[in-house]
Amino acid sequence: MEEYQLRDKVAIVTGGSRGIGRAVVLALARQGAYCAFTYSSHREAAETLAAEVREVGRRALPIRLDVRDFDGAKAMIEQVKSEFGRLDILVNNAGITRDRSLMGMSREDWGDVIDTDLTGVFNTTRACIITFLKQKSGQIVNVSSVSGIRPMAGQVNYAAAKAGVIGFTKSLAKEVAPYNIRVNAVAPGFIETDMTSQLGEKFREKAVEQIPLGRFGTAEEVAQSVLFLLSDTSHYITGQVLQVDGGLGM
Ligand code: NAP
Repeated sequence: MEEYQLRDKVAIVTGGSRGIGRAVVLALARQGAYCAFTYSSHREAAETLAAEVREVGRRALPIRLDVRDFDGAKAMIEQVKSEFGRLDILVNNAGITRDRSLMGMSREDWGDVIDTDLTGVFNTTRACIITFLKQKSGQIVNVSSVSGIRPMAGQVNYAAAKAGVIGFTKSLAKEVAPYNIRVNAVAPGFIETDMTSQLGEKFREKAVEQIPLGRFGTAEEVAQSVLFLLSDTSHYITGQVLQVDGGLGM
């Protein structure tokens, strides 16, 4: 059922090939949106997802993009606009972790996370904002993390990047509200994806103890919150961070 009325909207999701991004792409397609999405290295996963989107009768466009690439992000936005003729939605989802203690954190560990998780959001948003401003409409959802609000030890790079995404979201929301553009964020807690699949059993048990709802979340649960923020159902909401974390960040 298309309860969010996103039929024929054109969406871009970064890091759409796996995990949360993949779930967002599928959720958007089921709501009737056309889906362009980016991947970094997993071409096969991207092609499989594009086929799934086409199966639900929507157009899909997988694009290879390293979100750290400013000019590449600009070219990606132009490609989507020329392919679909318009652009309505941007979901900044691509992200990585390189968790380790500050003592053991290299300049590369710091730079990779900041460049991907924070500067990546700047690159794609900077590239599409002119389109949204000109048409006086547009929806942006940024995928932050509970780590940007209530971080764990051993992830100063990720916590800084995700807190940065929240600051970015709020500042931009104020800047572009007069143009009928809304900018919100979701802050997932522990979600079952490749990103958390490497966590050891002991760590998982301890983590679950901290989560009031008593389990990790699913990518689909995050995707549903993203849909809500992108849809007209939330049209009086901007500059907000919706925690999708089973209560972890309270
Ligand atoms: P994931 O399963 O590891 O997927 C990451 C996605 O990002 C993939 O599509 C990957 O593309 C893409 N990507 C990575 N580096 C990129 C780059 N430099 N340029 C472009 N794309 C890049 O991760 P996930 O768990 O779904 O996480 C998605 C977002 O949610 C991230 O921002 C993450 O920080 C956030 N988040 C996740 C959790 C969690 O518990 N899983 C919790 C809070 C927040 P390829 O497939 O080509 O590698």
